[in-house]
Amino acid sequence: MSQSVRRIVIVGGGISGLATAFALQEESQRLCFPIDCTILEGHHRFGGKVLTHHVDEFVIEGGPDSFLTSKPWALELCEKLGLSDQLINTKRENSQTFCFTKGQMRELPQGLLAFAPTRLSALVSGGLISPLGMLRMGWEWFVPRSTNVEHDESLASFFRRRLGAEAFDYFLEPLVAGIYAGDANELSLKSTFPRFYELEQQYGSLIKGMRTQHAHSMSRSATQKPQRTMFTTLRGGLGDLIQALVKQIESNGASLFTGRHVLEIAPNRATLPAGYTIVLDNQERVIADDVILATPAYVSAKLLEPLHPQVSSLLNQIPYCSTATISLAFPEHEVKKAIQGFGFVVPRIEGRSLIAATWTSLKWPNRAKPEHVLIRCYVGGKGREAILEESDAAMVTYVREQLREIVGISCEPLFTEVYRWDRAMPQYVCGHSKRLQEIRSVMNDLPGIHLTGAAFEGLGIPDCIRDGTRVGADVVRLYQ
Ligand SMILES: Cc1cc2nc3c(=O)[nH]c(=O)nc-3n(C[C@H](O)[C@H](O)[C@H](O)COP(=O)(O)OP(=O)(O)OC[C@H]3O[C@@H](n4cnc5c(N)ncnc54)[C@H](O)[C@@H]3O)c2cc1C
Repeated sequence: MSQSVRRIVIVGGGISGLATAFALQEESQRLCFPIDCTILEGHHRFGGKVLTHHVDEFVIEGGPDSFLTSKPWALELCEKLGLSDQLINTKRENSQTFCFTKGQMRELPQGLLAFAPTRLSALVSGGLISPLGMLRMGWEWFVPRSTNVEHDESLASFFRRRLGAEAFDYFLEPLVAGIYAGDANELSLKSTFPRFYELEQQYGSLIKGMRTQHAHSMSRSATQKPQRTMFTTLRGGLGDLIQALVKQIESNGASLFTGRHVLEIAPNRATLPAGYTIVLDNQERVIADDVILATPAYVSAKLLEPLHPQVSSLLNQIPYCSTATISLAFPEHEVKKAIQGFGFVVPRIEGRSLIAATWTSLKWPNRAKPEHVLIRCYVGGKGREAILEESDAAMVTYVREQLREIVGISCEPLFTEVYRWDRAMPQYVCGHSKRLQEIRSVMNDLPGIHLTGAAFEGLGIPDCIRDGTRVGADVVRLYQ
């Protein structure tokens, strides 16, 4: 007997929605389960936060510029899409990152937040941490592990407790802000960096745990071919991942639409208890057996409010913060001595709106011609959002002032580009995992509605791909 075709609609065509569609198709092919997949994207382009813009030979990333290689899901997807030969490593030369604090640029140890710290000696030689602060960090070995396993400790509390206030303020806080744009006093350790929690529990000390793991990975890598660098991206920018996904999903038979803003999801009375009618802003209606919301949590909250106020309220409790990136291109001869590294971060205690500045063209090959330098400044984030009230021109003026003051770049940029990211970064604050459990449990009341996206199980690109892949495959398996 032939199976009826299941109509599955994905709302949101960012990386999460596209990865979900790709997994749906893979699983439906594998299980010979017929689906009719549609993606409705409100914006005029796919990709969401992933946005690459080419200007002559410059490759400008408005949002994410790379992804972690220690989490395999983005690499695996690139491989399936035939993009592996397009992946590029960070440049090996000048790979230092700096911290601008107390009026000076000081080198940061690398790889700490990826659990493979190197050049810890830079902390001492660069003067980032005082001798007393170093002693306190060394004492970490003897700090007892937390015995309150139920406690959802904040990142700030955890790092201060284990490594001391100085280590937290001067190099951990700015690294965390660079990833989450958040306030480490509010972010949950277990939901953002569960590995640190596990290291403490397993080894009783982060330093001991990381050293042991580093030794293991060194002995493994001695017998393996050279690894990718900690972060990777695509030669033509991350937009190529979106394009390849869209092309593949379309050629697998899905219907993809941009400029289709979903206003409402209503139960389809003809197919109760499941089945929905999706209402678009052009009054079009789309019928679905399953709806997968790959939208920010506050959008999903609004769409689900009439169906289930409790789910909606829980989703609304996931806070977001806003940021902006400002890319500036300069002639190389004007800025060449400014910095020899990948860029710098600015600790919150410095009281600036600038979170970080990346020397994009020193960090990656293929981002600008050799006679040009491309720099990207990152501003805003939790507690530093006032700058985002300003006009684009005022933000450019602000970051130019910062670059002049901090690294002495005073020449006119060849051009600038500003990308605003309003309510873009979900904040995994303490209590996040409990909230997720509650959301999962009440979602059982909404058969046929599924949630994915950066708000839940990780906001990095690999995490979004992993979660979308899981949801896509699960939806098909549900009906097997
Ligand atoms: C500035 C910045 C830098 C970042 N840097 C990195 C990095 O270097 N590495 C990394 O791994 N991660 C990075 N991230 C995080 C990562 O980019 C995001 O978490 C991820 O791209 C989110 O993908 P998503 O598909 O879940 O959500 P989104 O990209 O937000 O996609 C959701 C989509 O839903 C659409 N939508 C919303 N409402 C509706 C509606 N009503 N109807 C139809 N469609 C709708 C939106 O238009 C959007 O396209 C960065 C994020 C930002 C903002």
